[in-house]
Amino acid sequence: MPLNVPGILVPLHLLIAPRLVIPSIIIKGQPLDFRELRKAGYRGAVFDKDNCLTIPHRDQLVPELKDAWKECRDTFGEGNVLVVSNSAGTRLDPGEIQAESVTHHLSVPVLRHKSFKPAYSCIKAVRRYFTSLPKPIEDHELIVVGDRIFTDVVLANRMARGKANGQERDGPLSVWTDGVWERESMVLRGLERKIMELAKSWVHRKAPLGDATTRSEYQRFVRDLPPPEVKEKPGLFSRFLGSIRGV
Ligand SMILES: [Mg+2]
Repeated sequence: MPLNVPGILVPLHLLIAPRLVIPSIIIKGQPLDFRELRKAGYRGAVFDKDNCLTIPHRDQLVPELKDAWKECRDTFGEGNVLVVSNSAGTRLDPGEIQAESVTHHLSVPVLRHKSFKPAYSCIKAVRRYFTSLPKPIEDHELIVVGDRIFTDVVLANRMARGKANGQERDGPLSVWTDGVWERESMVLRGLERKIMELAKSWVHRKAPLGDATTRSEYQRFVRDLPPPEVKEKPGLFSRFLGSIRGV
């Protein structure tokens, strides 16, 4: 695996912008409510591939996401959902064979880009894609979903920094999927999580109310999982009652 230099340089950027690693939403297996996101004005989505939509190095969608993925594509519409991977569609994908295969299996385009996420040139390529659509999509109308903080979350949050046409930028909604389909880079993931938690506690100390308000505002975009079916073992008393009732 070649070095992801833009990812390695993230800690330096954090010294001046610790919020970069803080996602807007953290999901742990719960599905996103794409219709609610659409109602709120989000019109497009950027998805990571490995350990987000697929098992790493595979091109097929994980079966558990079948319904949610269809709902996502139906809700945002054709061309408005884009896979941005650090494998398929990059220089690690000679002949763009994997990108073609991912498009075939996931039914969405895969961005071709030269630099790894979260490089600014990759951000430019994402913007170029969405602004060239028949109905162009702006940064603040996007959600960015991924399982790595230093690549996916930082990419989304970097899009919110700086100015565009003299105005402060409004960035996408960053969604961090906390969990993996297959264990991979677990030490790095643990480190990224620690750094994110540190940044969160630092930001929370500085503006406790603002942070809490923002979190609850975004929570409506996450569906509650149905409660797990718990089959309780009957206690001694219930078993005794059952036996005298003849159950
Ligand atoms: Mg990933």
